[in-house]
Amino acid sequence: MWRNVRTCRNLSEHLTIIPILLLIFIARMYHAARFTIIYISKCFNWKCNGVIDDRDTKKCPNGWNICPECGSCCSTRTAKQRVDNDIEIGKRPNPYFIDFVNNNRGHLEKKEYYCCKCSKRMNYIEDSIYECPTCGVKYNRKFYDFEPRFTKEYS
Ligand SMILES: [Zn+2]
Ligand SMILES: [Zn+2]
Ligand SMILES: [Zn+2]
Repeated sequence: MWRNVRTCRNLSEHLTIIPILLLIFIARMYHAARFTIIYISKCFNWKCNGVIDDRDTKKCPNGWNICPECGSCCSTRTAKQRVDNDIEIGKRPNPYFIDFVNNNRGHLEKKEYYCCKCSKRMNYIEDSIYECPTCGVKYNRKFYDFEPRFTKEYS
């Protein structure tokens, strides 16, 4: 009889611990997912599959992450899209991006590329190939450059 009561108590203790463990597990998964969203992004160039990890990618002089695959960093067109998107949803655009567009600060449009290892300015070699004078990192822009295309018309 005594033994039965004890077993029963143990079982109910186990039942209370399971939801707690489950909660910890969910919280960990949620944290991991959030972590991924914050630090890892895809290169904004739709032709490039480069994954930019904030923790080990260098930044260009404008402070944008440099894609290790194609060398894209910042683009006036991308900044303009952000301003346009904000206007479209009725949000006040970030003054940083307005200034960026007005002063045409994007490196992509100027064909300026920076090294993803040391953030130095790349030299143009030939035939769409850029090379870092210090590390020898190369970008072949032949596959990534495209004419600006606007898929949405704003009135
Ligand atoms: Zn890229
Ligand atoms: Zn840049
Ligand atoms: Zn370099």
